[in-house]
Amino acid sequence: MEKTKIGCQTIGCHVTSCRYNDSGNYCELTRIQVEPCTGRPDTGCAEDESLCGSYAKR
Ligand code: SF4
Repeated sequence: MEKTKIGCQTIGCHVTSCRYNDSGNYCELTRIQVEPCTGRPDTGCAEDESLCGSYAKR
């Protein structure tokens, strides 16, 4: 199986400033890349640990 085609997920997302966001609820992309946050404290809180690397400004 191609690594880019694993699973069949729907990506929920509320980031309305992203060009790939649909109606404030979904991501239109079939695949996103999640990246670790760098330069943040190691808190274990989502906002300090991960972010969407596929984000693009509208
Ligand atoms: S690319 Fe990332 S930030 Fe943009 S809509 Fe998709 S999941 Fe949300």
